[in-house]
Amino acid sequence: MWIYVNDRFVRKEEARISVFDHGFLYGDGIYETLRAYKGRIFMLRHHLARLRRSAGLIGLDMPIAESDWPALLQETLERNALSDAYLRITISRGEGAIGLDPRLCPRPTVVIIGLPLQSYPPQLFQDGVSLTVVSVRRNLTSALSPQIKSLNFLNNILAKQEATQQGAFDGVMLNHQGHVTECTTSNILFAKDQCLCTPSVECGILDGITREIVLLMAKEDKLPIDEGCYTTEMLQHADEIFLTNTTMEIMPVRRIDTQRIGQEIPGPITRRLQELFRLNLPRFLE
Ligand code: PLP
Repeated sequence: MWIYVNDRFVRKEEARISVFDHGFLYGDGIYETLRAYKGRIFMLRHHLARLRRSAGLIGLDMPIAESDWPALLQETLERNALSDAYLRITISRGEGAIGLDPRLCPRPTVVIIGLPLQSYPPQLFQDGVSLTVVSVRRNLTSALSPQIKSLNFLNNILAKQEATQQGAFDGVMLNHQGHVTECTTSNILFAKDQCLCTPSVECGILDGITREIVLLMAKEDKLPIDEGCYTTEMLQHADEIFLTNTTMEIMPVRRIDTQRIGQEIPGPITRRLQELFRLNLPRFLE
C-alpha cells in the first residue's frame, strides 16, 4: 500500500509522522473523506473546496496548490490499483514544540490514504438502520463549528459510543437548543407530508456534499424542501427518514429509539431519491 506523506509516496510501513505532530498532540488539523467510483472521484471540486474552507477556518495555509490535488489523488488510486475506493486527506498543523500556538509548527503534515471501499452491508439498505437520540450535544457553532472537518472528532466519537451502547446503528445529536442536527458521520433528512425536511446549516451541522446533491435531486424532481429547525418529536413523526454521507450515499432509517418510522423501508421518497442519485451519479464524477 502506497501512502502520500508530505511530499512523496511511501510504503505503508514507512509512512510515519512525529509524536510532536500537533494533529496527534492536540487534534489540530483537518480532513476530508472522498470516494471514487471506478476510479472517478465523486464531487472532487466540492470536497477540495470544503477542505480549503476547513483550512481557512483554523488559519492553516494549504500546503499543496489547488491545482496539484487532483493528480495526487489520482496517483493514490493508481499506485494502489484502486477502482471503487475510499480516499482520506488529512492535514495537521505539523510537527512543533509543545504548546498550542500554531506558529510553533513551521510546516503542515499532509497524508493521503487510499483504500478499497468497504460498502455497508446490503441488508442495512433493505431493512433500514436504527437510531437513538443521544445525550451528547453537537458542538456549539460558536465553540467548534461543525463546518470545520476537524481532527478533533471527540464530540462525534462520544455520541457514537453512546449510540453503540444503546444498541443503535448511530446517534442523533441535538444542539444546545434541543434541535436536531445530524448523526455522527452523516446528515439526516426526513419526509413529512410530501415535503423533504432537513436541519439547516444554522442548527449546527456539517453541510454534507451528499446532502447537497440529494437536495438538488429533490429540487429537480419538484419535491418541496424545507431546511429548518426540528425537534426530536417531529423526527419521530416523520413518514420517512434517511441518512446521507459520501460512503453510504442514502441510508434508510427504520426506527428512532422505540418509535418505528414509516410503513415500508425504504419509503417511496427515499427510494425515488436513491434512484435519482444513481441515475445522475455520472454528472458528479470527475
Ligand atoms: N456530518 C458529519 C458530522 C460528517 O462527518 C459527514 C461525513 O463524514 C457528513 C455529515 C456527511 O458529509 P458528506 O456527505 O460530505 O460525506
